Amino acid sequence: MVNCSISIKRWYHICKYEFIFMPEYKIIVANWKMQLTVSEAKQQALNLKKLLGKSKIDKNIEIVICPDFLSLVEVADIFKGSRVKIGAQDGFYEEAGAYTGQISLSDLKASGCQYVILGHSEKRNLGETDIVINKKVRAALAHGLTPIICVGETFEERKEGQKDLVVMHQVYQALHEVRLKPKQKIVIAYEPVWVIGSGQAIGSADAYDAALVIGQSTLDVFEKESHGSVSIIYGGSVNPENIKDFTGLPNISGALVGGASLDAKTFVSIIKNI
Ligand code: PEP
Repeated sequence: MVNCSISIKRWYHICKYEFIFMPEYKIIVANWKMQLTVSEAKQQALNLKKLLGKSKIDKNIEIVICPDFLSLVEVADIFKGSRVKIGAQDGFYEEAGAYTGQISLSDLKASGCQYVILGHSEKRNLGETDIVINKKVRAALAHGLTPIICVGETFEERKEGQKDLVVMHQVYQALHEVRLKPKQKIVIAYEPVWVIGSGQAIGSADAYDAALVIGQSTLDVFEKESHGSVSIIYGGSVNPENIKDFTGLPNISGALVGGASLDAKTFVSIIKNI
């Protein structure tokens, strides 16, 4: 009897998350990192535009390309007027001032960005803290950009049984004092650090469980305010063969793709297989 009521309770919660995080649309984000020169990025954008033009792609799939800062304006120009949206790989929270090496979110917006990746593990590895990520999330929303917040555990944290705690903590910290206005959106990418660039993604059951934890954490922060505003996506060695393992889940609405986004054909196959 006890077990039964626990499982009914669990079932109710699962239904609730799946309902709340049931995506209205899918989103696929390409993170080109620092992998391409400006001319390679332009060529890649042209290849992609041509291939997308020839492909039948569901209009409910949002395609976001995140080039490096130097290529961003030209890549945005190539995709102008198309369905492809542009994202930056980072952005600074201050508006202007003596901040050597930083790029303001307002400039990114003016350059054609609608999205910004924040808290990627490769930035966290270089010392970016949860406090800085939170400032960037709030500033991104204030500038009308949709933050793509990356969270995920290292292999050591997973081995120590800390996975859920780490993910919850990162979500709570990133969303601290964030208030969503109508129509504002947030994307949270679950990216287990140890599978990024490894060629070996996690299984779909693992991704489903992590998305439940993220869903619960965002509910804790926003309560009802987040209905339809938060999308959870998966990132880590996604390819055309495994994409459906993740986007076929009821609580995952897309993917963040690194390596496999560098080849236009492969990336379009991922989009088609979503
Ligand atoms: C990433 O770095 O965000 C990523 C998902 O990379 P990859 O697809 O290469 O694992």
